[in-house]
Amino acid sequence: MSDVIIIGGGPAGAAMGSYLSMAGISNTIFEGSHFPREHVGESLVTSTTRVLGDINFLETMEREGFTHKYGASWHPPTGNEFSVVFKEFPQEGIHQDYTYHVERSKFDHLLLQHAEKLGSKVYQGVPVKQVLFEGEQAVGVRVNLDGQDTDFPCKVVVDASGRGTLLGRQLNLKKKDPIFDQYAIHAWFEGVDRGTGPSHEYIHIYFLPVERGWVWQIPINDRVTSIGVVIEKEVFKQSKADLSEFFNKHTMMNPDLARAIKNARRINEFKREGDYSYSMDKFVGDGYVIIGDAARFVDPIFSSGISIALYSAKFASEHIIKALETGDFSAVAFEPYETRLRGGVQVWYEFIRLYYKLLPLFTHFIQSKTHREQVHRLLQGEVFDREEVPVLQAMRDYIQKVEETDSHIFKQHLSSIPLD
Ligand SMILES: Cc1cc2nc3c(=O)[nH]c(=O)nc-3n(C[C@H](O)[C@H](O)[C@H](O)COP(=O)(O)OP(=O)(O)OC[C@H]3O[C@@H](n4cnc5c(N)ncnc54)[C@H](O)[C@@H]3O)c2cc1C
Repeated sequence: MSDVIIIGGGPAGAAMGSYLSMAGISNTIFEGSHFPREHVGESLVTSTTRVLGDINFLETMEREGFTHKYGASWHPPTGNEFSVVFKEFPQEGIHQDYTYHVERSKFDHLLLQHAEKLGSKVYQGVPVKQVLFEGEQAVGVRVNLDGQDTDFPCKVVVDASGRGTLLGRQLNLKKKDPIFDQYAIHAWFEGVDRGTGPSHEYIHIYFLPVERGWVWQIPINDRVTSIGVVIEKEVFKQSKADLSEFFNKHTMMNPDLARAIKNARRINEFKREGDYSYSMDKFVGDGYVIIGDAARFVDPIFSSGISIALYSAKFASEHIIKALETGDFSAVAFEPYETRLRGGVQVWYEFIRLYYKLLPLFTHFIQSKTHREQVHRLLQGEVFDREEVPVLQAMRDYIQKVEETDSHIFKQHLSSIPLD
């Protein structure tokens, strides 16, 4: 019997297993699918390096040759591309000036194997059916093992089931985001013209002349590029176009992108993602914690998901380790984790909301001497344990000024997103 059972072997679950095993705590990961399995979310932010370093996984990242990501470029539909280069503002505790783009099937598989090597017991192809409770206290899980329902008791259950949101659904904790209801269509391509300059291995984000519409271009390796169109779900529903038509029409809307993919050839099926912005009412309870996408998901415009997943594992593991020392497995013992994670994710959320509210503001702030470093810090994923984030207030104040000034050049760019 393990002290801790982890539901899901994605980045959040595998990082949790790694942290616990390194602390000498017995843990079992039940992963419902068989790895390698495909997954969306292929570009990391630099703060992930800290966690990958903690669990001694950076050597594997280098050995396996994941593409180095040194920066990011944005392309408004009117041209005038602009970029950030990560080395401009070094980060505390991080000793490389790049992060990575990852083929998720390979990255997730290696990370799960890493957790196993460190001591996690890993079952694949074993979905958890439900978390078992005695009163309010989580006491184990029921899995389907070789076609039979089998119960596994434990002291702490960690839900890392991603957008499967197992506990959120079981306990009815899941709330859809009131603002964002985006939809993504993506595939891999060969023959994308990424240029030859330093930006050829950056992530490229192309703005579309459609509210909340954008496209990612992520270099998976020398040959393969991931491209995804993100749009409001309602816009997709109303268009009645099939995936291919919709994708082609929207990628033609940004001239830089149209040029980059002129000779590109799709090499796998289109995939779609929807209904992905939500939060659970709570991330902890007696005997359980919820981490990664299973706890909360914010819009992926700034590639924040894996960073949040890894940090949630790091923070929650600290409280699980403590709980095993003290014997206190109550919700109260885990609450500091929830506060810390919510605080950081809320910074991402505000940044994303202000970004979508007034697109040219982001362009303006990132190029301004006063705000550039602060915007970089957010893009790096430095969102946790912050007492204040002055740049977000400055963005709000600026938006208010635009709203109040009819003649402001940005006025026509204000979107319908509410600020509160
Ligand atoms: C359109 C889009 C674009 C994105 N782009 C990026 C990006 O560029 N960069 C980035 O960092 N993030 C991105 N993300 C987010 C990223 O995909 C996630 O944040 C990340 O995968 C979260 O990791 P996780 O471990 O919490 O969940 P997952 O990676 O989803 O892992 C959860 C695991 O749990 C397993 N599971 C589910 N239910 C059960 C069950 N009942 N029993 C056992 N196992 C179960 C699943 O099989 C899965 O392997 C994007 C997301 C979307 C939707």
